Amino acid sequence: MVSRVIPVEAFDLVIFGGTGDLARRKILPGLYRRFYDGQMPEDARIIGAARSEMDEAGFRQFVKEALKEFVSKRYDEEKVATFLEHLTYVSVDAMGTDGWKDLAKVMRKDVVRAFYFSVGPSLFGEIAERLHKYKIADDDSRIVVEKPFGNNLETARALNRTLAEHFHETQIYRIDHYLGKETVQNLMAVRFANMLFEPLWNAQYVDHIQITVAETVGVGGRGGYYDKSGAMRDMVQNHLMQLLCLTAMEPPSKFEPDAVRDEKLKVIRALQPVEPGDIVRGQYKSQKESYIDDVENPRSITESYIALKVEIANWRWNGTPFYLRTGKRMKERVSEIVVRFKEPPHSIFEEDTGQTANELTIRLQPNEGMDLTVTIKEPGPGGMRLIDVPLDMTFAEALGEEAADVPDAYERLIMDVIRGNQTLFMRGDEVEAAWAWTDPLIEAWESREERPHAYEPGSIGPEEALILMHRDGRRWRELRS
Ligand code: NAD
Repeated sequence: MVSRVIPVEAFDLVIFGGTGDLARRKILPGLYRRFYDGQMPEDARIIGAARSEMDEAGFRQFVKEALKEFVSKRYDEEKVATFLEHLTYVSVDAMGTDGWKDLAKVMRKDVVRAFYFSVGPSLFGEIAERLHKYKIADDDSRIVVEKPFGNNLETARALNRTLAEHFHETQIYRIDHYLGKETVQNLMAVRFANMLFEPLWNAQYVDHIQITVAETVGVGGRGGYYDKSGAMRDMVQNHLMQLLCLTAMEPPSKFEPDAVRDEKLKVIRALQPVEPGDIVRGQYKSQKESYIDDVENPRSITESYIALKVEIANWRWNGTPFYLRTGKRMKERVSEIVVRFKEPPHSIFEEDTGQTANELTIRLQPNEGMDLTVTIKEPGPGGMRLIDVPLDMTFAEALGEEAADVPDAYERLIMDVIRGNQTLFMRGDEVEAAWAWTDPLIEAWESREERPHAYEPGSIGPEEALILMHRDGRRWRELRS
């Protein structure tokens, strides 16, 4: 069972930074896959725009190489050749005057114009300004901006103000690729299209919620950037916050951009300040490999791991904590939300029968899907013994292999930009509210010059994070290698 593919409107999509890493690995392969599936219309065009001196043929060759490397199943020479015909390139200097008139010339009227800012944030304002100055963008054009959206409230506000000088909020698509994941949207479907979960989705029935985004890789080549950021800014303020919002929000009145984003904003505004004792920060460290070597900063106190206990002060969640953790160089690469329900108020079974609480796991990667553990009787003549079994809602199982081959987050989000649907993009006030909650926490540990706890690379994180849960009589879902 596969969903129908409806082509989007004709478009001109300009990728600023079209020769960069993100364009090569995600944006261009994503567009090719949409083309392959018939979602990109005949008269769509993709215009690479970057500082590199390159001509159209050179850009097409560059994209072909990228597709060879990053498109696996759907790579098809003939299709690739046709896809490449949709591509052109303009060499543009975002900070100067070169190339802008050429770009203005290649843009068509009467098609959707979208501009993907796949460049460093310092160029966002420069590009926005020139798009207007050279009359390349109009009131219907859309811009897509990449993370990081500021690195604190002040810089995020400044960025919002700069973009607002040239574009309305309805034209700005702030991308958080976590929101483009199939399972994230499925979380909304499961919550709001079923009667089964929503009545139980509150402090009365939910013991706690865990959100984990664990990576096995270290900081890699991004050391310099990462060391100025850390796990809180790089992951919690955006990705984990978005997952928390979708899990915790009230049902919006409609599945419409502002209705959904209003509810997410209310959650962020209801987040309580986190006590220092409810935050554990870590840095990976062993004889062979350490964070400080990777970032080449022996004095760094930036965290490559963080765990927090977060409380939401509203009627629905009062007393049900959300435990968030994210880190690099951990044992398992996994992103998931675990909703742990309370145990039944009274057990009619003997104490050692093995009864536990239900758990709903929403897995974003790997193997996107959901499962719900249900306690049943262990089959056989052994008397009343209870076991937990997962009710697997993984797409491949229920819907067939083809349905499991879901579009990557980027390709889905780019198609949403062309359709003009902002539901899965962050609104400016959401981003600012998230920083307003994050900033004081960071300022507090920076002012204390607090050193992160060491953890072994390839482990589950620092001991102290286990204690954060244990002292509440709870434990993290186990990470597997
Ligand atoms: P990159 O350094 O690989 O590429 C930068 C691109 O910008 C190049 O095409 C370069 O030619 C172009 N550029 C630089 N200065 C320019 C100028 N003055 N005028 C015109 N073009 C100019 O960077 P990247 O990794 O592709 O990242 C792009 C953006 O996306 C960054 O903001 C980054 O934080 C964000 N991002 C990247 C990733 C990723 O996986 N690479 C993930 C999330 C967010």
